[in-house]
Amino acid sequence: MRSQQDSAGGLRHLITLGGLARDALTAILDRAEAYRRFPGQPAYEGRELAGVTVANLFYEPSTRTRASFDLAARRLGAHVLNMDLQSSSRAKGETMLDTIYTLEAMNTDIFVIRDSEAGLPEFLIDHVDPHVSVISAGEAHLSHPTQGLLDVLTIRAHKRRFAGLKVAIVGDIKHSRVARSTSQALATLGTTDLRLVAPEALLPAENEFRAAQRFTRIEDGIAGADVVMMLRIQKERMVQSASLDDAAYFREFGLTAARLRLAAPSALVMHPGPMNRGVEISSDVADGPRSVIREQVNNGVAVRMAVLAAIAATLTRQRHPL
Ligand code: ASP
Repeated sequence: MRSQQDSAGGLRHLITLGGLARDALTAILDRAEAYRRFPGQPAYEGRELAGVTVANLFYEPSTRTRASFDLAARRLGAHVLNMDLQSSSRAKGETMLDTIYTLEAMNTDIFVIRDSEAGLPEFLIDHVDPHVSVISAGEAHLSHPTQGLLDVLTIRAHKRRFAGLKVAIVGDIKHSRVARSTSQALATLGTTDLRLVAPEALLPAENEFRAAQRFTRIEDGIAGADVVMMLRIQKERMVQSASLDDAAYFREFGLTAARLRLAAPSALVMHPGPMNRGVEISSDVADGPRSVIREQVNNGVAVRMAVLAAIAATLTRQRHPL
């Protein structure tokens, strides 16, 4: 696979947080913090992406990620093309490459891609023109790097540290690209106490998340946690989902105000969205004082601006070497 970074360490592509060193992650978080504006403030507007064309190719549904890549690119001065594409199950990589080659011929510089096929972003970075970049906006159940970054940015803003933090991820971890990317980022930044909480059937394979503790009772998993991250059940990634009973799941694993009292008094409640209120989380907790769910959304725009700006800077250096 072509590297995500150039020989000077500049970001060329972003398809996984695996292999990105702490310095590289911290640089993106710092840049994102500089771009972040809270609701009610005027959004940051810059020219970092002036003359750059970004194509958003989403082969899976998306609300937050797609809207925030779109806004992030425009606020930095890019031309943006949004395409909603139907997944075709046959020879998807080839079909997508044709779309990409077509858009490359129209001088597209950065492709933001979401797809349900594992391995596709890697395939694409090996096949795109050398002057073009690929950012994954979600790869199957495997990776969602900008979500991982926005999650750790949100945690950093409140906790100011990663070492010594107790983080519980609760829900359908087996099918969650968010759990994978966020736990990778946390591990790189120094968090060692990661708890995975799920019914047995939704825990990941034993050889994944090696350093994490596993729990099948939410009460045990979130006890004393500094961060409680709730996940949706990814029915679309299951062969058999019809037998799942939402009410029974809420009774056993739903985050309620009573259960939240088991976590640390200052625990953050997070959720990548979309939320199913009354299934994995009660509305009073989702909208309550510990919830940073809307901050996550706010940070999502800032992180995507930071990633796009870092990649654009690398592309510019590559095209105009000193
Ligand atoms: N939005 C997140 C994702 O794309 C989480 C989810 O869909 O449940 O993976």
